[in-house]
Amino acid sequence: MNNSNAPQLVIVGSIGIDTIETPREKRIEILGGSVSYACAAASYFVKAGMVGVVGTDFPAEHRALWEGLGIDLDGLQTEEGRTFRWSGVYEENMDNRRTLVTELNVFENFSPELPDAYRDAPYLFLGNIAPALQLHVLEQVHSPKFVLIDTMDLWINIARDELVEVVGKCDMLTLNESEARLFTGSSSLKEAAEILLAMGPRFVLIKKGESGSILVSADGAHSIPAYKLDDFKDPTGAGDTFAGGLMGALAESGRVDEVAIRDAMIYGSVTAAFGVEEFSLERLATLDRAQIDARVEAFKALGGIE
Ligand code: AMP
Repeated sequence: MNNSNAPQLVIVGSIGIDTIETPREKRIEILGGSVSYACAAASYFVKAGMVGVVGTDFPAEHRALWEGLGIDLDGLQTEEGRTFRWSGVYEENMDNRRTLVTELNVFENFSPELPDAYRDAPYLFLGNIAPALQLHVLEQVHSPKFVLIDTMDLWINIARDELVEVVGKCDMLTLNESEARLFTGSSSLKEAAEILLAMGPRFVLIKKGESGSILVSADGAHSIPAYKLDDFKDPTGAGDTFAGGLMGALAESGRVDEVAIRDAMIYGSVTAAFGVEEFSLERLATLDRAQIDARVEAFKALGGIE
C-alpha cells in the first residue's frame, strides 16, 4: 500500500516550452506540455506525481510553480540539452490551430522511469506521448484501479499498432471527435465508439470541443455540455486540463464506477474552462478549490445535471 506522501495519481506526458500566437496576442517561450496542464488541474483534488523530462535549460520558476501547486516532482527527469519546444498559431475563430515548430530535444531519448513510490498509485493517466512510452509506464505500475489514456492524430498515423496494444490495457480512452474517426475509419461517432470499446477499454470519452463530451460504455452513452465562456485567451492544453481535472476528481472520490466518472467529467470540464481564460498555467496556478466547486454547482444548475 502507499505511504501517505505517495501520489494517488501518476501522470505521464510532455513538458514543453511553447510559443503561441492567437489573433490577439503572441506569447513566447511559456510553460506548456500535456503533463504540465494535467498535473496542475489534478493538484486541486489529490497529490499528483509528474512523470516527464526537461532539459538543463528549463527555467527554475516553472518548477517552482509546480511545487507551489503541491505536485510531486520525484518522477521528473532532467537531461543534458534543451527542453521540448512547440509552437502553434490559432486562426481567427480559434477553431483551427496550425503547428509551426516541433523540436523534440530531450524528449527524443526519453525513457520514463517511475520512482518506487509511484508504482502503487491507484490512478494513472497516460497523457499524450508516444504509445511505446505509455506502455513502458503502464508496465511499471503494479495494479492500478483505473488507467486513462489520451492520444493524438500523430500516433494514430505513425504508431497505430502500439497504440491499439496499450489502449487494450487501459480502462478508459479519451480522444477528440476527429481522432475517433481517424482511429476507426468510421464517420459515425456511435460506430467509432463501438470499435474503440472493442479494443478493450470499458469507457471511451469523446471530446467535442465547445459541444462538450460523450462518455460511452457497453451500457450506453452519456453526454455533458461544455462550460461556456464568453471570452477565452488560449485553448492550448484544454484537453489535458480536462483529463487532469477528471482524473484528479475521480481519484479523490476513490471510485471507478460510471456515476463517479460522470461526476468527475464535470470537474474536468470546469477546470478546463478556467485554464483557457489565460495563457499557459497562469489561471490554473491561481485557482482555489472553492472557485472550482462554485462553478461546478453553477454548471450543474445550468445544465440540469444532477
Ligand atoms: P493540446 O492543446 O491538448 O494539444 O496540448 C498542447 C500541449 O501539447 C502544448 O503545451 C505542447 O507543448 C504539447 N505538444 C505539442 N505537440 C506535442 C507532441 N507531438 N507530443 C506531445 N506533446 C505535444
